[in-house]
Amino acid sequence: MNTGNNITEKPTILAVDDNPSSFDQISNTFRDSASILSAVNYQNGMEIAENEQPDLILLNEKIKESDGLEVCLALQKSPETRNIPIIIMSNSSENSNEAESINAGAVDFIFKPLNEGILKARVENQLRQKNNLDFLKTLSSIDALTEIPNRRFFDERLDQEWKRATRERYSISLLMIDIDHFKSYNDTYGHLQGDECLKTVARNLSQNLWRSSDIITRYGGEEFAVILPGTPSYSALNVAKRLWESISALEIEHSSSLSVGHLTVSIGLATLSPNEKTKPHQLIELADKNLYKSKTDGRNRVTG
Ligand code: GH3
Ligand code: MG
Ligand code: MG
Repeated sequence: MNTGNNITEKPTILAVDDNPSSFDQISNTFRDSASILSAVNYQNGMEIAENEQPDLILLNEKIKESDGLEVCLALQKSPETRNIPIIIMSNSSENSNEAESINAGAVDFIFKPLNEGILKARVENQLRQKNNLDFLKTLSSIDALTEIPNRRFFDERLDQEWKRATRERYSISLLMIDIDHFKSYNDTYGHLQGDECLKTVARNLSQNLWRSSDIITRYGGEEFAVILPGTPSYSALNVAKRLWESISALEIEHSSSLSVGHLTVSIGLATLSPNEKTKPHQLIELADKNLYKSKTDGRNRVTG
């Protein structure tokens, strides 16, 4: 399952500093324990922070005449970067700068010239906390019944993928998958059996997604949403058909299903190429419309 938070990976540190010797020192200190990204100006630093989502930012207090604390405030304001801890590196020995940094949202403050032991201790301390927070975030993004990502995760991830696709100019497809006549399944076999059925369907859908970038979520109730980044409509249609067939092939008995006597799903599919003027909800609405068409055309089908 890809929840986008692989907490066992090596952490990534972004160093924003125009001084090559402090960059070398940071690289050497974390050579074996982290991946290091670098930016020599704030503009570039903010772009890398947004696009690469590092686990920690080491931000120099001043670059040329620009003020790092303003950058710190801006990073804290943006939803994409507000969860990335920032440590300010300062040339000044004035305590007031330390207080200002913390007030600007930095989690810690280090004086230059960098002392390797202090740098290592402070950075590792923050990385540990970030790791714990990421773990809690992963837990809060998982649906307790089916153990696949939940609606909260879907909303966040679709937003992120939308921005990435806008930048990198590729299309996103979305599948909305709804179990047919599930109310009568519960009425016939009971809610506990209904729960088991939802787990089986979730597991089966997950197993039939083959690309690690594909994202399956429980959208709500007996409805699942699959985000397929970088997937054009003809490929998405193939994925949709594969998922639709795989559920049918499970042959889960559903005697009160009006169509075939076993459990089936209806799928609505949509593809858009995001740009600055479009929003993710447009993709959801299109997929929903096609799901509705699958239902009104007789269920147990894919509409794209
Ligand atoms: P349609 O083919 O039009 O989709 O009909 P439907 O019966 O599947 O749709 P409807 O929206 O009428 O009913 C959805 C049912 O899904 C009702 C609800 O009790 C059931 N359901 C939603 N979440 C859960 C769950 O967590 N466990 C169980 N057992 N049932 C659930
Ligand atoms: Mg249904
Ligand atoms: Mg439904």
